[in-house]
Amino acid sequence: FAALRATDPEIAEVVLGELDRLRGGLQLIASENLTSPAVLAALGSTLSNKYAEGYPGHRYYGGCEQVDRAEELAVSRAKELFGAEHANAQPHSGASANLAAYAAFLQPGDRVLAMDLRQGGHLTHGSRVNFSGKWFQSVSYTVRHDTELIDYDQVRDLALGYEPRMIIAGATAYPRLVDFAAFREIADEVGAVLMVDAAHFVGLVAGGAIPSPVPHADVVTFTTHKVLRGPRGGMILCRSEHARAVDKAVFPFVQGGPQMHTVAAKAVALREAARPEYAAYARQVVANARALADALAGHGLRPVSGGTDTHLALLDLRALDVTGAEAETRCELARITLNKNLVPYDPRTPGTASGIRVGTPCATTQGMAEPEMAVVARLVARAVRADHTTGAGERELAAVAAEVAELVAEHPAYPRTS
Ligand code: PLP
Repeated sequence: FAALRATDPEIAEVVLGELDRLRGGLQLIASENLTSPAVLAALGSTLSNKYAEGYPGHRYYGGCEQVDRAEELAVSRAKELFGAEHANAQPHSGASANLAAYAAFLQPGDRVLAMDLRQGGHLTHGSRVNFSGKWFQSVSYTVRHDTELIDYDQVRDLALGYEPRMIIAGATAYPRLVDFAAFREIADEVGAVLMVDAAHFVGLVAGGAIPSPVPHADVVTFTTHKVLRGPRGGMILCRSEHARAVDKAVFPFVQGGPQMHTVAAKAVALREAARPEYAAYARQVVANARALADALAGHGLRPVSGGTDTHLALLDLRALDVTGAEAETRCELARITLNKNLVPYDPRTPGTASGIRVGTPCATTQGMAEPEMAVVARLVARAVRADHTTGAGERELAAVAAEVAELVAEHPAYPRTS
């Protein structure tokens, strides 16, 4: 860090400022986590220098003996941890992994059935502003009005009606378990490929806290930077029969040279995730999310679907007459970072939204458990109700911020000793 400070004090200030932000506030973004010093060390290593187009043993560049080892470790650890026949560790991101999965199994114009973006699906699941909606014909399934759970009858009807070439299970803002066996059955009925986008919950699968999609899916894509607590990036798991198609789709179809420092950091995160401490962490992430959702319900914030089975909860704020955007701003002023989110059948736009999404990966990494979740819920509920455009609201948000500071001082992100 001394070298960075000497060469570029402005960027050094940004890096320190971000560390202060992480240490000084409560991080409730469901898709974020706090990587270990070991993961950060691999990311900040000389492996960043190396060009390594191709795969271990078959590169288009010399000098790959060390990075080959890193990639082989990432691949073998992923296969072992998830019980997968094949793994590809090169996707730069979740979106790249998804593009590669489409490319491995589909032709432009093919039909894809996936979850509606407005109800929790991801941009890469058929949005018109994304390759998935522009180059493929996308059909969306939704959640039921009454239960706010995936409507499997509707998924089946749509599959029978549209005969999609691929069905995608997995989402960005769905708090409940996905029934992978049901999706498999529907996919088999119509002869579709089943892709599971496990970006959000793969870390819970790694820790054995929720069931795995791997035995059911033809292909599983995921990001390594959410609950899994690795570097920003993506990975793909598949059966051996699809290995060649998937590898060719990642390189050379979607990407050029892999980022070998990131691949090495993925290997580190996968090693960490195979430890018993990580399994305990994954279980606590879910226990914390449940405790947080229940406590927020007690404060009048309605958890969509009544609660959660995962690391995240979606809270509907309509009864409080507060928008998601207002809630996000108010929480930010109280040093609580979370995001506004559409709730199912939300009449508002995504920029305003009627809900917020909260997640427990970061807080759990910081050692918080159920008692702290009760405190977090109380602070979030107070912040959401404090009208930041009034003096009284500003004072209330400052008071909440002071309590947040006390809480995170007891459970610091990146403790100063490390
Ligand atoms: N898939 C899902 C379900 C996601 O939630 C996300 C990101 O939030 C992605 C894919 C894309 O990941 P990335 O931002 O790394 O491209």
